[in-house]
Amino acid sequence: MNTEKIKQAEAFARECHAGQVRKGAAEEPYTIHLEEVVALVSSYGGNETEICAAWLHDTVEDCPPTSFTDLESRFGIEVANVVRELTDDKSLEKAERKRLQVVNAPHKSPSASLVKLCDKTSNLRAIANSPPKNWDYQRRCDYVTWAATVVAALPYKPEKALENFWIAVDSAEIANANDCLPTRQAQNVALAVLQRKALRSGASPKQAEEFLVRFAQGSLFGDKPHG
Ligand code: ZN
Repeated sequence: MNTEKIKQAEAFARECHAGQVRKGAAEEPYTIHLEEVVALVSSYGGNETEICAAWLHDTVEDCPPTSFTDLESRFGIEVANVVRELTDDKSLEKAERKRLQVVNAPHKSPSASLVKLCDKTSNLRAIANSPPKNWDYQRRCDYVTWAATVVAALPYKPEKALENFWIAVDSAEIANANDCLPTRQAQNVALAVLQRKALRSGASPKQAEEFLVRFAQGSLFGDKPHG
């Protein structure tokens, strides 16, 4: 879907975020994040309001002096209200803002819930692919855990969206371990992720355990790569 209103939201978001880059080491343009969130929201059947909100979700928080009044006059109250639900109060300490995201998640509207789920998916993909340079292992892991806690508390999670979110969690955990830990420890993290994946796809704890043992024997410790 690409209506006139969506095109205007895109143009406005691109103008607001012009020159901004993502926190990761690759310093990608910030708009890559918006494109990703919009693509996810669209792929899960997001409506016009939700796609506009996906473009605009970080404008008030990150692009002063953009205000909700600006958004309301350009895109209507519905879009402005969804963005409001997705905007942290920057006058609060970061830790408090993060705590409030968890506390407030269950009260989100379905539209805000969908955009937030896609936002967190995009952020975790960024942690996996281009983590901020100064983040150590613990900080990266804490971020993943926090994002998963927020998403778990959201009231509206289309199945496919949640599945892709979990894949992003898995990838971030494996990338963190790969980047930061000695090989054996990183392998243990990968095994734990695989076990969780098996449980998620309906295996019993016993089946997951057996699968893991077979996997560990076969591919991790049995076939040492030559080199
Ligand atoms: Zn965002």
